[in-house]
Amino acid sequence: MISFYPGPSRLDPGIPAYLGEAATSGILSVNHRSKDFVSLSQDTVIQLRLKLAIPDTYSVFFVSSATECWEIIAQSLISEGSIHLHNGAFGEKWHEYTAKLAKSTVSVPFVFDDKAPLDFIPKSSSGKVICITHNETSNGTQLDTATLKWLRELHPEALIAVDATSSMAGSALPFSSADLWFASVQKCFGLPAGMAVMVCSEKAINKATDIDERNHYNSLVSIIEKMENFQTTHTPNVLAIFLLNKVMHARKRIDEIDLFTKRRAAELYAFIGQFTKAGPLVENAEVRSDTVIAVEAEPEIIAKVKSNALTEGILLGNGYGEWAHSTFRIANFPSIQDNEFEKLKDFLRRELV
Ligand SMILES: *Cc1c(COP(=O)(O)O)cnc(C)c1O
Repeated sequence: MISFYPGPSRLDPGIPAYLGEAATSGILSVNHRSKDFVSLSQDTVIQLRLKLAIPDTYSVFFVSSATECWEIIAQSLISEGSIHLHNGAFGEKWHEYTAKLAKSTVSVPFVFDDKAPLDFIPKSSSGKVICITHNETSNGTQLDTATLKWLRELHPEALIAVDATSSMAGSALPFSSADLWFASVQKCFGLPAGMAVMVCSEKAINKATDIDERNHYNSLVSIIEKMENFQTTHTPNVLAIFLLNKVMHARKRIDEIDLFTKRRAAELYAFIGQFTKAGPLVENAEVRSDTVIAVEAEPEIIAKVKSNALTEGILLGNGYGEWAHSTFRIANFPSIQDNEFEKLKDFLRRELV
């Protein structure tokens, strides 16, 4: 089965070999305070910095999921409220999770295929956390780099937190335009689910230290303190860190991957544009995602295409939330091979053109 599901997604082709290596190397039985674990953790951080072009001044942490990052931010960084700009199911959920844990959360929804309306963010954002989704996996929209830079300029006093779950390691990210970036590893990293990577600016670290919230096992100050020695607050998912290490060693640098992702996305959108029975959900080319492509059609057509795909060994992503029945989604993640995309195109040509 070739999976085009946007998470959990097609595994990196090296995973079977890495799993065997992990099992026989002994790393899965070592103590997480040991020298062996610390050197694995440190080397993984070095590789992430190198391959994803994370600035030196930013810290890298290993946590359990993107959902956990929503809660870490709510409990450890939001002391004076947050502002959530969202246009789909994941951004909306982030606001809902935060509203349960933090006070003064403001929700700023926008139409999914409009450009992010930065003017709608209250001007007085000092001390607040602005929360946005870089790549909205539910509908295949993406924020461009210019928008993120502009947001940073408009709100220099705020902390800016970005959910980049379905774009980190697939698209180049403008890290210095925000303070917190996070992603779980079952999307563009091509790993099994069960871990996330969080990247924090010095400003975010300082804010966590000022607030000094220590009520949780995953309080950000505790995570920061443990990571000074490349350790975690709890026994971490060592297998996932091992696999991440191997995958990052083998991966090209993000600027090269970004070109590859963009090239394949452009080809796919052009291809989908020829369909007579379906089309791209996102009409506005400026906000289209490069990593998650949503295809819209009548619900009967969507259901038929998905089931016919399965009989040919192709797994398409279901639609999500509001678009559950009117779309299917195609992941354009680095682990998916070009010849697999050719197979998908042959199939879709027969079904939809
Ligand atoms: C998949 C996804 C999540 C949730 O990730 P978990 O690993 O299940 O916590 C959050 N945000 C976005 C944008 C996603 O695509």
